[in-house]
Amino acid sequence: MRCLYVAAEAAPIEKVGGLGDVGGSLPPAIKKLGVDIRLAIPWYPDIGVAKWNVREVDGVGETKLGDTDVPVYLLAREVFAKTGRHKAILGTREEEKWFAGFCDQVIDFIKKSEWKPQVFHGNDWHVAEALVRFEKATPYELGEWGYGVSNLATLVTVHNLSYHTEVLRKAILVADIINAVSPSYSREIMTPQFCEGLCEDLQTRESDVYGVLNGIDYGVWDPGKDTFISHKYNVDSWREGKEKNKSKLRRELGLTESDSVLLGFVGRLDPHQKGVLVLANAIEKLVDLSVQIVVLGTGARRAEKEISRTTEVHPGQARAVIKYDESLAHQIYASADALLIPSKFEPCGLIQMIAMKYGTLPIAHEVGGLRDTIEDGRTGFLYKDYYSRGLVRVVRRAQQVYQGEPESWAEMVRAAMKKDFSWDRSAEEYVKLYRKALEKSLKLF
Ligand code: ADP
Repeated sequence: MRCLYVAAEAAPIEKVGGLGDVGGSLPPAIKKLGVDIRLAIPWYPDIGVAKWNVREVDGVGETKLGDTDVPVYLLAREVFAKTGRHKAILGTREEEKWFAGFCDQVIDFIKKSEWKPQVFHGNDWHVAEALVRFEKATPYELGEWGYGVSNLATLVTVHNLSYHTEVLRKAILVADIINAVSPSYSREIMTPQFCEGLCEDLQTRESDVYGVLNGIDYGVWDPGKDTFISHKYNVDSWREGKEKNKSKLRRELGLTESDSVLLGFVGRLDPHQKGVLVLANAIEKLVDLSVQIVVLGTGARRAEKEISRTTEVHPGQARAVIKYDESLAHQIYASADALLIPSKFEPCGLIQMIAMKYGTLPIAHEVGGLRDTIEDGRTGFLYKDYYSRGLVRVVRRAQQVYQGEPESWAEMVRAAMKKDFSWDRSAEEYVKLYRKALEKSLKLF
């Protein structure tokens, strides 16, 4: 089976969030199952041609995905000439134009390439225009593109419904199969609270909507091998490893050395999704509880300001670093005792899975993929009241275990570190969905 996986980003070549992690780790897992899967992503100017050994053939950049043997095609270089991926996440109308331009070139690539995918796996709104064009293409046209009896099947994965909803609507209406990135989110998106105005559209497609949980790449996320952290550790040495990493991080960020629980936050500062204003609102109360907090993120100006303002006044106890910093993110996972995830909605969320591997217990709002991956009181802490009050309460609950029942805390850490969120099972589910899409798509001359 041949599949073209199309996305706005794929780590390690390009990444601003979970979409990039998935683009970098799911395709190799699918390839292991015998699928000839290849990627198409935009050719952003910040992709180092020498670094990734990019070969240009007829305007298309060709490289491999990191150290895997999955081919990557870089397209639409001129469309993105003036922007990098990190600039293309501001939600502007201009972005829609860039990605429409990208979709044109994806179609062009499929027409011209000798290698013809049978399955088109599109991710989020960025690829919507391409899906619409496929839908409009007649079998005759597809024949002209080099397809005999056409079976160009389409699958669209919804990573996040809240961006460019109108564009995404088109993709949802025409794709052969649709999936969301966790079972809970696949149900939530049928309901008014989460459907972003697409309830009717999604409900008409309900029998074609599936939920497949994202996984993480333990080649990248493993405290035993992580080159970004100073003290490596595993499930037997977590306490010592974490303590050493924690001391170093405290020194570097100007936090005082103490016995208090260290809470981390890593993520896009998107107030609509990530609960960052709720967090900013809670900082004063959290500081009163004598916990320490470190926040790493960039995003909306307002959220950046609020987080900075509320942490700056407690220099030894709270610290915000407003930037994108891969290395610091790894150090926070390795150093913090718990990770705050106050998201209003969370399609899947990778940071809780990463945190668990690092023995950092997630403290998360019980929603979407967070609900599917965290067991309250066993591998983390879940809470229902989204607002600051709920967040402060759950932190107090976690703190009581941390300080009052260290053996229970240690048991939770070990249980969390032993969880397996690798891609293997989900990759198999994707291949099943590819087969379903192929069956549905069969168009005959
Ligand atoms: P989302 O996809 O909504 O951004 P996820 O939890 O699925 O959220 O994935 C977030 C990914 O992005 C994680 O790998 C996380 O470590 C990374 N990340 C987010 N913000 C930053 C940042 N400021 N610096 C470094 N890494 C970040």
